[in-house]
Amino acid sequence: MLPLTQTNVLIVGAGISGLATAACLQRQGIEYVIIEKHARVASAWHNHYHRLHLHTNKRISQLPYKKFGKNIPRYPSRQQVIDYLNDYQQAFNIKPVFNTTATFIKKEGDYWITQTTNGIFQSKFLVMATGPFGKPKPVELQGMETFPGKIMHSAAYKTGKDFANQKVLVIGFGNSACEIAIDLFEQGATPFMSVRSAVNIVPRDVLGVPVLEFSLLLNWLPPRIADLLSAPLANALIGDITKLGLKKKPYGPLEQVQREGKSPILDIGTIQLIRKGKIKIVGDIEFIEGNMVHFKQGQTQPFDAIIACIGYSKDEINIIEVDRNRFEDLQVSANRQQYFGKDGLYFCGYYISPTGQIHEINADARKIVKNIRGI
Ligand SMILES: Cc1cc2nc3c(=O)[nH]c(=O)nc-3n(C[C@H](O)[C@H](O)[C@H](O)COP(=O)(O)OP(=O)(O)OC[C@H]3O[C@@H](n4cnc5c(N)ncnc54)[C@H](O)[C@@H]3O)c2cc1C
Repeated sequence: MLPLTQTNVLIVGAGISGLATAACLQRQGIEYVIIEKHARVASAWHNHYHRLHLHTNKRISQLPYKKFGKNIPRYPSRQQVIDYLNDYQQAFNIKPVFNTTATFIKKEGDYWITQTTNGIFQSKFLVMATGPFGKPKPVELQGMETFPGKIMHSAAYKTGKDFANQKVLVIGFGNSACEIAIDLFEQGATPFMSVRSAVNIVPRDVLGVPVLEFSLLLNWLPPRIADLLSAPLANALIGDITKLGLKKKPYGPLEQVQREGKSPILDIGTIQLIRKGKIKIVGDIEFIEGNMVHFKQGQTQPFDAIIACIGYSKDEINIIEVDRNRFEDLQVSANRQQYFGKDGLYFCGYYISPTGQIHEINADARKIVKNIRGI
């Protein structure tokens, strides 16, 4: 018989969202239990590639009630984020039940019943904090089984050192793809980027100010208007990307977040390397034959390795048995969610925000706890 734990609030996941929610509950003296499938907090950040720095500035990337230290740079490194989260856990005395994976969750009467690999949890409130980036999308390329080199998802990429002196094809043009291409170049590899879709690119900083600080100021405007206002400066700083073999989206970066739930590219130097010919742009892949990659535009090139920066699937959340509308609702911020808190169920950190996701998680966690308190 599996053990049963009863608690007021159960938080599933001890990443940034889970920790932020736990700290807010602790501050209010509300009893909770937090479970985590791995053996440490913020496991995602331990696994990310080594070069990673926050693309969002530290002022808007801190969790409730604790700032990044003054000596930490504006864009903290992966390790500095891990250290900050470990300190955060200590500061708020957060003690997750580790090695405990939620496998199925449903509401029974007044309670949420969470089945896990380590017993059953019964709670009045449930906060899902498993993150939207936990499950890499499978890499599926025609002929990939004939490729003699490494093919990996960006989630498995660690450092460009592993690819020194190799010709590497990076698939995709998101923020991870753009940083991985820089890393490959810096570590002595020759990166190419296969880009299928049109993109929006904004400089990470404008006149020495983080661009997301401007996004925050413009956030009250309809995205299309905010894009119109910011476009001239961003375009002047980034230049004409169509000359680099890239296509520009017909709408701006803020509208992109609203329409697609995907962040625009915050450029940290990739564009300059493309301009200098250090990173080369190629089109969409048609098929692979041995070490040769055939592109839809007709050209063919040999490669030593392929890194697919193709994003993550959101299926993981399906462990919870609820009306599908509850998942649709996560395409907007907590303030606009129709079902926010209904039946004592909350989601922290699933909405992809134009002002940075950690910033949104901070707001979500506070709002959730306020709602649980009933104020
Ligand atoms: C490469 C990368 C870079 C990013 N950079 C930035 C940035 O610069 N700025 C920014 O604002 N945002 C950034 N983000 C987005 C976002 O802030 C991070 O993904 C952040 O880690 C999200 O925190 P989270 O707690 O919601 O999810 P996660 O960090 O994924 O944590 C979820 C936790 O839940 C656990 N879990 C999952 N399923 C279960 C289960 N069934 N049972 C128990 N536990 C479970 C996981 O093990 C994990 O510890 C980045 C994302 C990625 C992928």
